[in-house]
Amino acid sequence: MTDLSGRTALVTGGSRGIGRAIAERLAADGAQVAVHYGSNEAAAKDTVAAIEQAGGKAFAVRADLADPAGPDQLITALEDRLGGQPLDILVNNAAIIVYEATIAEATLEQFERQFAINVRAPFFIIQRALPLLRDGGRIVNISSGVTWFATPQTVYSMTKGALNALGRSLANTLGARGITVNTVSPGVTDTEMNSWLHESDDAVPGIAAITALDRVGRAPDIADAVAFFASDDGRWVTGQTLEVNGGLFLGPKTQSW
Ligand code: NAP
Repeated sequence: MTDLSGRTALVTGGSRGIGRAIAERLAADGAQVAVHYGSNEAAAKDTVAAIEQAGGKAFAVRADLADPAGPDQLITALEDRLGGQPLDILVNNAAIIVYEATIAEATLEQFERQFAINVRAPFFIIQRALPLLRDGGRIVNISSGVTWFATPQTVYSMTKGALNALGRSLANTLGARGITVNTVSPGVTDTEMNSWLHESDDAVPGIAAITALDRVGRAPDIADAVAFFASDDGRWVTGQTLEVNGGLFLGPKTQSW
């Protein structure tokens, strides 16, 4: 556990799945957390209530990140709620995957929506948040293992590749302000994005079989890595991508030759 007392954090898509676990972890460490959501207000309220019940501080903030105006609306609302306090930690977590958006089937609308939410929004959220982000602050972007293993969801993997490239360049640009920029890259993690995990009896054992630690990832597994980058312990790490996946696709577990 690291001490984030007195710090503020924004977690996009903090209402559900991995984002919720990140919001809960940063709040447990002492940060006041802005729990962003797009449309599911009930989930955001539930996350805020869970944080408060655990003794933490949080509030919900809404913005549709498919909308070009979403990033500005989000940071404007955040500024209102923070009332002059700076932002210490920005976690760009919100994203979508469109499973049908393969090279054969992807439509222009699916392509543009994924790039809007997964790439355009984080870029312009960062741009808009920079005056609010204090020197020595933290940016963590949530990417995906599909940047290094192949998947039929080509468009989704392209959006996450863009995020990896963003992190490295931005770290160099923002270093002068002491702001670190890092990328956390989950493997297969049990969230609503991966509802297919529970649609067949083979999915969970199949993923466990190609994972060194022999199970599917859980949202707190990812949140704990984010907490490191957000903490003072992470002060000398920037421009890096950390694979947080239990050892996904490390190679065959047994050798028959
Ligand atoms: P999830 O359970 O589907 O949650 C997605 C979050 O993003 C929700 O809070 C959702 O809020 C928000 N969101 C979606 N569309 C939005 C929009 N148009 N505007 C604003 N917010 C929007 O996803 P997850 O599995 O936790 O994934 C979190 C991050 O981890 C993503 O970046 C994902 O690409 C990455 N990741 C996940 C896995 C995995 O196995 N789960 C693996 C690798 C990487 P609303 O419900 O209100 O729209």
